[in-house]
This record gives sequence, C-alpha cells and structure tokens, in this order.
Amino acid sequence: MSPVRAVVAAVRALSTAAARALSPPSCAGCDVALADAAVFCSDCARTAVPYAERPPRGAMGPGAADGDLVAFAPFAGALADGIRRFKYGDRPDLARPLGRLLLCAARDAGLRADLVVPVPLHPRRLAERGYNQAALLAARVADGLAASFAPRALRRVRSTAQQAQLPRDLRLQNVAGAFRVRAPERIARRRIALIDDVATTGATLAACRDALLDAGAASVIYLVLAAAEGGVDELRSSPPSARRT
Ligand SMILES: [Zn+2]
Repeated sequence: MSPVRAVVAAVRALSTAAARALSPPSCAGCDVALADAAVFCSDCARTAVPYAERPPRGAMGPGAADGDLVAFAPFAGALADGIRRFKYGDRPDLARPLGRLLLCAARDAGLRADLVVPVPLHPRRLAERGYNQAALLAARVADGLAASFAPRALRRVRSTAQQAQLPRDLRLQNVAGAFRVRAPERIARRRIALIDDVATTGATLAACRDALLDAGAASVIYLVLAAAEGGVDELRSSPPSARRT
C-alpha cells in the first residue's frame, strides 16, 4: 500500500469514528438503536455471557498473576460479531463499548498494571485497516486502570502467516521472534497488561510476552475480550533458553 493510500485509510477511519460518535448509541453486536448506555441489546446480550470464573486456560478472579489470561467471554455470539465488525468492518467506534467490557474483565480479575501494551499489527495491515484494534482497546483500559498507555512498546519485525490457518505445531514457530521491544529501559521491572481482541491459539500473546520478559518486565498478564471456545493452548512462554534464536 502506498503512503497516500495509507493516509486515506487513516482519514476514512477517523471520519467514520467521528460520524459514529455523533449518532445515538447502538448495539455492538447488531447495531439496533439502544435507549440506554448498554453495550448489547437484550437479544445479543443473551449470547455474550461473561465468564463466571475462568477462561479456558489461566486464572480469573481476584489477583491475576503473571502468565494469567483474563478474558471477558468466549469468542461466540454477539461478542464475536462485535469483534469482527470492529476489526474488519471499518468500525473503530466499537472500541468504546468493547473497551468497557475489557475494563470490566480487568477490574473483576483485580488486575494491576503499570503499563498497558497492545499486540502490534504489522505496518502493512495497519495501513490497510487504518487503526490497530488492540491499541484502541488498550487506550481505554489504561485510562480505566490509571496505568500508562504504551502503544509503541512492541513492534512486529516481520509479517506472519494467519495463526488460525496453521497446524498447532507450526503456530509457535510462526510467531517466535516476530516481536521486539523498542525501549527495554521502559519495560524493565514494570507490571504489564498485554492487550489483544481475541486469544485464538495464544501463540501470538506468548511471543509478545517472551519479548517483554526478555526486556526485564516484572510480569505480563494477558487481557483479551474473547478467548477461543475450544481453549487456548499456548499461553505459557517458551523457556528462556529457547528464546533468542
Ligand atoms: Zn444486538
């Protein structure tokens, strides 16, 4: 994508967000008009059921600890619809209602963080979409937790194949070493909340966590809107000896 097209995409995303901000509140799942400040209409809310206790892997509940996955709900129903529209439907305005759900999950888990870091998009995909959905969510979480927002803490050093299309044994290999910390001195000794919209296999989150721990982070907790219904297998980081390949 040329720089001009990238700018056009970014301007389009901004103007869409501005137009949506002026329109009345609507359901994040189906866009039906809402009378109050709810995220979902009553029909959609029945299909977006928050985790009562724990997502497929990792711990929820008071005192999330290093390596835990905190998620709002399974990737299903209206939450899945809302996330798809947010990412692929040119709807950056959905960061506001979906960010509220993410903040709820963080608070319910008693999550404490110094820095809120989004999983970065590859620059080419960022140019196409006009925004990084994880960064829009992370900004809202940082606000709500009174933590620092660090949108540029990680960078993606190479484009990776779509994780969901790969067999399990290739997923970790696909993303290992795909991320770098820009300024390790800002990461060292900090408690980090790592944000993404969905934990599908967990391999991308684990690769980001490896990079942050290698830079000296005190802890990294995964915070996502939705976790794959079938379970998230690969959240634990590889042993230090297996990193830095
Ligand atoms: Zn709805």
